[in-house]
Amino acid sequence: MQTVKVRSLAGAADGDVKWIGVDEIHMFTTDDIAVLGVAVRRGIKVVVAGIDLDHRGLLFEPVRALFELAPERVIYRRAVCDVCRSLDATHTQVLEHGKPMIRELAPSTALPDDGTYSYEARCRRCVVLP
Ligand SMILES: [Zn+2]
Repeated sequence: MQTVKVRSLAGAADGDVKWIGVDEIHMFTTDDIAVLGVAVRRGIKVVVAGIDLDHRGLLFEPVRALFELAPERVIYRRAVCDVCRSLDATHTQVLEHGKPMIRELAPSTALPDDGTYSYEARCRRCVVLP
């Protein structure tokens, strides 16, 4: 399938569109989710993937808005915990200089991709939340 890298979903439902697939949905905005709302009301099939919880263990705002569209189906996948190797990692641990970041950032704060931060999948027992 043809894919395009976008910063916004504006216009995604325009024209003769039958399907919209979006990866990394947590990186988009609630305005983008509104575009998906218009799409589903027009009968366009929408499939998205992404992570649900931010560094605080709270839903990303666009993910919350997505759930408010009452999706037909939600499939949760669990990762392998990078600490204890259990098969039920539910959280993304943000590491700052290799240590759990316990500062609380404003929702949807983008972290620089300069090597300061890295990420691990962690289970509920191993995650360190702010
Ligand atoms: Zn663990």
